[in-house]
Amino acid sequence: PVDRLPEIQEARLKLPVLAEEQVIMEAVRENESVVLCGETGSGKTTQVPQFLYEAGYASAGRIIGVTEPRRVAAVSMSRRVAKEMNLSTGVVSYQIRYEGNVTQDTKIKFMTDGVLLKEIQRDFLLQKYSVIIIDEAHERSVYTDILIGLLSRIVPLRNRKGLPMKLLIMSATLRVEDFTENKRLFRTPPPVISVEARQFPVSVHFNKQTPMDDYTGEAFRKTCKIHRMLPPGGILVFLTGQAEVHTLCRRLRKAFPYRASSQTGKYQDAEDPSEELRKSKKAKKKKFVSLPRIDLDNYSALPVDEGDEDRQAGIDDDSDEGSDLDLDLGDNPDDTGQKRVFDGYADPSIPLYVLPLYSLLAPEQQAKVFRPPPPGARLCVVATNVAETSLTIPGVKYVVDCGRVKKRFYDRVTGVSSFKVTWISQASANQRAGRAGRTESGHCYRLYSSAVFGDFSLFSEAEITRRPVDDLVLQMKDLNIEKVVNFPFPTPPSSEALVAAEQLLVSLGALEEPPRQGRMVDQKRARLSCPITPLGRAMAAFPVSPRYAKMLALGRQQGCMPYIITIVAAMTVREIFEELDRPASSEEESSKQASRKARFSQMRRLWAGQGQSLLLGDLMVMLGAVGACEFAGCTSAFCEENGLRYKAMLEIRRLRGQLTNAVNAVCSDAAVCVDGKMAPPTESQVVCLRQIVLAGLGDHLARRVQAEELLDPKWRNGYKTPLLDEPVFIHPSSALHKTLPEFVVYQEVMETTKMYMKGVCAVQAD
Ligand code: ADP
Ligand code: MG
Repeated sequence: PVDRLPEIQEARLKLPVLAEEQVIMEAVRENESVVLCGETGSGKTTQVPQFLYEAGYASAGRIIGVTEPRRVAAVSMSRRVAKEMNLSTGVVSYQIRYEGNVTQDTKIKFMTDGVLLKEIQRDFLLQKYSVIIIDEAHERSVYTDILIGLLSRIVPLRNRKGLPMKLLIMSATLRVEDFTENKRLFRTPPPVISVEARQFPVSVHFNKQTPMDDYTGEAFRKTCKIHRMLPPGGILVFLTGQAEVHTLCRRLRKAFPYRASSQTGKYQDAEDPSEELRKSKKAKKKKFVSLPRIDLDNYSALPVDEGDEDRQAGIDDDSDEGSDLDLDLGDNPDDTGQKRVFDGYADPSIPLYVLPLYSLLAPEQQAKVFRPPPPGARLCVVATNVAETSLTIPGVKYVVDCGRVKKRFYDRVTGVSSFKVTWISQASANQRAGRAGRTESGHCYRLYSSAVFGDFSLFSEAEITRRPVDDLVLQMKDLNIEKVVNFPFPTPPSSEALVAAEQLLVSLGALEEPPRQGRMVDQKRARLSCPITPLGRAMAAFPVSPRYAKMLALGRQQGCMPYIITIVAAMTVREIFEELDRPASSEEESSKQASRKARFSQMRRLWAGQGQSLLLGDLMVMLGAVGACEFAGCTSAFCEENGLRYKAMLEIRRLRGQLTNAVNAVCSDAAVCVDGKMAPPTESQVVCLRQIVLAGLGDHLARRVQAEELLDPKWRNGYKTPLLDEPVFIHPSSALHKTLPEFVVYQEVMETTKMYMKGVCAVQAD
């Protein structure tokens, strides 16, 4: 008995999964586990929980659980489903790492996969749930993989106990053999239902040549051409990172000013797009009046930011179908702007409404892409990989795909990580292209050749094979899975990674030392099955990775707990400081930026404190920043003024609350509370804090190279670490950049232009 609004009902009927409701529900009834495949946008996430609800899976005190690999999806999908079902968010709710709106009445719960894993630790049988949907399983996030492994055991157990439970795995690609053909996972392969997407044809256009580095420039040129020459329809551009997204947005806005006076306007913060547009029209009119001799024939001439380079670019276009939508028309140097005006489509006077989209973007900015663009304007979303499968942007007809993705890579031995831009897989490229055919037939412009595409790997690798697994191993040990190697992983991590994880956990005291006698083979096996210690159990209760959990476990000395909680919260939230080096678009802006930069550095020096505190280094800066921000009431104005990322500060605030609760739950006599007006630590507390930090980061110790050891100039100001042959450095933005203490511990080494340590803290030599 769901009472949907007529317009919602109408929109639902257009979704391909709706036609398969019977088939899906029958399969769920008849089987313990079912796999559902369907293109992004076919309605899996929003509709399937509703089917289950209407079929009574949220009755008799049990609820429907849906896991998402991304927080942004858990939040926005729960809201959407609540709205579609005309139910309150107290009934269709979400829970992410430190925040949620779940109530006693919750019937459908969206959560991140990590949240469900934590719940399994509390109740292995997940008795609250009648069904679990693992969404976006194709993303192969680490927690998704582990959950599928665990649920493959939990579901049969529940059924044997007479508490029936269902598992539904949903994927946007058809590549599900890792789940279905894996006999260790499911003895009888689950049935696979695939939903025929009502996908419109997408013509794919390859470049003849592949720009090796300037793909952002190429994306710019292509987007300009699409906008100038092709019929209405939204444009979605895939780039690899936030900085690129901003650069392209800026260039596009400059090339197609969205209102004539936009130089002074605050485009990005414009609240009401239609209001903006009205102003823009007015401004344009005025311009024509005051400049009567404007050459209207030349109106479609190259946008301001496009130089001659634009004219050559299109020659590379491969007209694979000879369609008039191949963008090689008009690239002949003789071809003037006028001609384009008359080719029937071009109307560059249509404003381009450019929006960025990436995961660190503030939520209210993110939400803009779902709203229709201002009337008469063309939507252009410049996005990172987030737009590939988790979010469906309405009205996209053109996709521009740079063919690359930015991924974090870890060195398996040293743990050094770096972000690298690499080619995507063919599956990803096809996902991206598919975004163009949601509402009508569309076009995908690939900024690489078909030969390059042919060399892409077919599918992306599962995340679990690419990153350290110490956190997973600890969680699994806490679930009494002693021999992690025997776990039914959809794709197992390498044994090197498993050994490294167990070694780290042994050194942190979370696992028992393996016995030392016996043959090598036995030793290796023993190293892979160390039992968990009581300390390990306490650590597993904290929702942070083992190194930080160890710090929390030690935090009670000398009243240090509130500080340790804050430091750990700050270290585990991404990018708490505002990036300083955005390219400025004008001289005025650049001088403004210089003064902001000076102010930010000054604040960081202030937060770094004095005396003993200075030795706590970057961690003291974090502590000081959070303290100051909380003291000021954690407002966006304070963050903006002092170079802090508001979204990060809010996350830290919530995480502090959550970690405080976790600490109180683990040690009932800890009695810590979150203090909004935390006084700075005393000198003796700082000494203690440094010891606690050292206990957690002990394997991340580095020693400054002494003058007498300096053989090679590349080691100047460098630090030596046990695992690396190369020097690592203290970043110029670090609080310890000038001090260069003899011994430091660091949070991680990140390779950018050099190998830089992040989160550096000085330690005492002994
Ligand atoms: P899938 O999970 O198969 O990718 P979804 O269930 O997420 O598909 O999306 C189904 C449809 O619902 C899409 O057309 C999408 O645009 C629409 N939709 C999803 N979220 C929202 C929202 N917040 N506002 C409006 N439409 C939405
Ligand atoms: Mg989905």
